[in-house]
Amino acid sequence: MNAVHHQPPVIDLRSDTVTRPTQAMREAMMSAEVGDDVFGDDPTVRRLQERIAGDLGFEAALFMPSGTQSNLCALMAHCGRGDEYIVGQMAHTYRWEGGGAAVLGSIQPQPLPQGPDGRLEWRDIEAAIKPDDAHFARSRLLCLENTWGGQVLDAGYVADVTARSHARGLATHLDGARLFNAAVASRCSVRELTRGFDSVSVCFSKGLGAPVGSALCGSRSFIERAHRWRKMSGGGLRQAGILAAAALHALDHHVQRLATDHDHASRLAAGLMGLAGVSVQAPQTNIVFLDLSPEVLARHPQGVAAALADHGLLCTGSARLRLVTHLDIQPPQVEQALHILRAVLS
Ligand SMILES: *Cc1c(COP(=O)(O)O)cnc(C)c1O
Repeated sequence: MNAVHHQPPVIDLRSDTVTRPTQAMREAMMSAEVGDDVFGDDPTVRRLQERIAGDLGFEAALFMPSGTQSNLCALMAHCGRGDEYIVGQMAHTYRWEGGGAAVLGSIQPQPLPQGPDGRLEWRDIEAAIKPDDAHFARSRLLCLENTWGGQVLDAGYVADVTARSHARGLATHLDGARLFNAAVASRCSVRELTRGFDSVSVCFSKGLGAPVGSALCGSRSFIERAHRWRKMSGGGLRQAGILAAAALHALDHHVQRLATDHDHASRLAAGLMGLAGVSVQAPQTNIVFLDLSPEVLARHPQGVAAALADHGLLCTGSARLRLVTHLDIQPPQVEQALHILRAVLS
């Protein structure tokens, strides 16, 4: 193994986290100016934090090792022990982060059902807000997610529900792991999508193609509180400028190109329309879902994902397959993926 940047041996559509840093990104990382960020000395980390705070329209930002830690520190900075946050039943912070808010933060989640577009209805949110009474946890925060299942959360909905939440004394947090996909797909600035939120977490390690890293944005005092939780949870990094340089490179070079990933997802979806027993959810960004009929599933007792993997295509899910396009997928691989999917599913 001497190739620094080799093609993956298979077509990997499991997630947009599987990308390898490009040569240009590696060069940016190699030449990054660094210092000990725990002392606040790393100029590249500081540059990234100022850049992302400005881009998203916040006073301050904090570089984070992962989206999970970023969301956890946000929840802990908003909520104390015995407080509660209101969140979607299928939301990442609630369902896919090991229950960290409850386990590590002593924060009670109040999960609510979500519509197919990721919305929590205001009437459900309002009904979940607890009275100020010793029987109840203190309702403190609403947490939303954009994109949700690859779909862009409706801007009118966000404006309405965040304003109503503030009026009821709730703070608002956005898990914007794929916020840049949402902005590119809806042809607006990320700033427009963060309006109404007191804090936002974004990932550099998803579609933006950096190897590591997320950022949490908010007011200066909020970020100071989150900083303490980041330290306590072991997220204080030393010469982190090596990683921040990758994120800065991604912000400069990998945002507008997300449209290519979205085109590839649309091409995948279009190429599978009309296949018997396969229902395709038309993608808005880089994630395609395929719902498979019992007949299709019955033909693959070992699982459809395993059958696809035998043909060199990796994806996740079983009755509902998820295919995610990204920086390391080129048009020939989209066509090859379609070829494999048609052969295995029909
Ligand atoms: C990936 C993801 C996260 C967490 O990011 P990690 O860096 O994997 O911890 C949070 N929220 C959403 C919606 C994500 O897709």
